[in-house]
Amino acid sequence: MAELIKINENTWRFEDDGVRFFLLCGNDRAALIDTGMNTPDARKTAEQLTNLPLILINTHADRDHISGNTGFEEFYMSPAEEENYRESGGKGTILPVKEGDVIDLGERPLRIIDNPGHTPGSIAILDEKYRVLIAGDSVQDGNIFMFGKYRSIETYIDSLKKLSKYDGTYDEIYAMHGTIPVKPDLIGKLIEGASQIASGMATGTKVNLFGNDVLLYKFPYAGFLCEDK
Ligand SMILES: [Zn+2]
Repeated sequence: MAELIKINENTWRFEDDGVRFFLLCGNDRAALIDTGMNTPDARKTAEQLTNLPLILINTHADRDHISGNTGFEEFYMSPAEEENYRESGGKGTILPVKEGDVIDLGERPLRIIDNPGHTPGSIAILDEKYRVLIAGDSVQDGNIFMFGKYRSIETYIDSLKKLSKYDGTYDEIYAMHGTIPVKPDLIGKLIEGASQIASGMATGTKVNLFGNDVLLYKFPYAGFLCEDK
């Protein structure tokens, strides 16, 4: 059972065994942002916190972010994420979202930003009213998974660079792993680290993760787990 922590009157975070997800409430609706790793009853838990109609938006479809999706017949997700979602056993109907879409919870607009790289359909969500960016797994100070068939470090770097056009519209970033909140200047550091890896300038350490031999590139601000080529 995930631990519930209130961030403010209209925002909660759910701490779920090393991953977190969020409940955001507007005047008219509430939105879960992801459904965690071990919280199949995420919907029920959220409905104990709010009486508002509840929608779900997924930042991406890795298994640690979709455990409670079964509680929703339909949910918002990038269509580029569908293959990853179905492969992870995901059910239900995807309501496609793309860059520029705004999902308004009632005086709480959530702006969708395409942010591929960690996965093909990763999105970030800009909570304009509270000046917070929720960036899925792409911006965090833990170890960012960049191995496996759906990842691309080059695409990841491009996506983080494109985030700069939203500079000044948010003050904090809510990450799904690691520290919360993190500061916007982490993005520039992640671009630098990922670029060093992509250009072969960084040195990784071999580690075994869930049976995969991968390389861990550890920087002072975050790590990247990459294919051992
Ligand atoms: Zn994750």
